Amino acid sequence: MFVDEAKIYVKAGDGGNGCVAFRREKYVPRGGPSGGDGGSGGSIYVEADQNDNTLLRYRYNREFKADRGRHGEGSNCSGQSGGDTILKVPVGTLVFDEEGEGLLVDLKKPGQRILVAQGGKGGRGNQHFAKPWHQAPREREEGQPGEERRLRLELKLLADVGLVGFPNAGKSTLISVISAARPKIANYPFTTLEPNLGVVNADGGTGGHGSELGRTFVVADLPGLIEGASEGAGLGIRFLRHVERTRLLAHLIDTSDIAEMDPVKAFEIIKGELAAFSGTMIDKPMIVVATKLDATTDRTKLQELKKFCAERGLEFHAISAPTGEGVKELVRAMADALDKIPKEELGDVDTAPGADVDYVDIGAYEDPDDSEPDEGGPPVGKIS
Ligand code: GDP
Ligand code: MG
Repeated sequence: MFVDEAKIYVKAGDGGNGCVAFRREKYVPRGGPSGGDGGSGGSIYVEADQNDNTLLRYRYNREFKADRGRHGEGSNCSGQSGGDTILKVPVGTLVFDEEGEGLLVDLKKPGQRILVAQGGKGGRGNQHFAKPWHQAPREREEGQPGEERRLRLELKLLADVGLVGFPNAGKSTLISVISAARPKIANYPFTTLEPNLGVVNADGGTGGHGSELGRTFVVADLPGLIEGASEGAGLGIRFLRHVERTRLLAHLIDTSDIAEMDPVKAFEIIKGELAAFSGTMIDKPMIVVATKLDATTDRTKLQELKKFCAERGLEFHAISAPTGEGVKELVRAMADALDKIPKEELGDVDTAPGADVDYVDIGAYEDPDDSEPDEGGPPVGKIS
């Protein structure tokens, strides 16, 4: 199941208390204070994970608590620190503070990580309170409580190309022939209830021996739009926010003999729904794709659509998924179009001004010798 919004509660671990203790050893009368410090509580991070494309796990499990620090002990033993908790989310997840601070961060890069709740500091043990004039201190500190926060996670998938069009236009079929994605395909509307992402290799490299990998991009197959979607008909526009972040749209239109709707009309309706959703959508570059060429004996509708596109300066392609006709050309055209569209600076981390958040780009910390990457952790940079 695809879930693109979740509300969670996070609570970092409390710090352990400092300890009051005195050295007691044979032949050492009146040993000094030896109360160890409490360990610090574990912190909670949210991290963008490449292998994830849904917030599903946060639907059932909404509370996350990091381990507390252990209390200090005698003989100057510090309590153990609580382990950090890392919550993995799909790339493209926006993290909001539900109580006022608004957007904390937009996790656009795999491995990006934000500190959402700082673990409490451990309290100091009585060993720190000894003074020459105060040699048997009974003072110690309590551990500090870990931060807690209510967060809203919102996923806006990051894909280069968004496939849009009426149900049954052939979107899922296309993504299944150009990528390794295997969405559900069937001859009834709304078989696709969740967006599918597929990685497409434009230049035909197989990745095998000696071959160039070539240009790759990510295509999102989005559930069918219909007339009135912007008012909530069908699956509505729930999925359109995922199109919002694509750089290029491919608008698929069935021009085959069995197509019920006039292709030009289909084009106008979907275009209208996109415009009703947001102004930015209408400015996105678009390629128009006539589908099911193999089932198109009468090409009048196809030609009409082609002419319509030519008049508006829209790039036009015709394809057949089963025979592969036109598919390679389409994929290459997508890659060419993407080459011309500036990629948003993905390195930028969007954060609300003044939000007290830390992040690390752990992508830069790949140490092959480090068998336990979480131990110690990379340094944490502060955004101000
Ligand atoms: P979606 O709703 O846009 O994702 O459409 P689907 O990919 O699920 O396809 C709807 C129906 O059209 C399925 O029965 C597909 O087998 C069929 N279909 C898709 N592409 C082609 C094509 O190129 N040729 C033919 N003959 N049928 C196709
Ligand atoms: Mg589909």
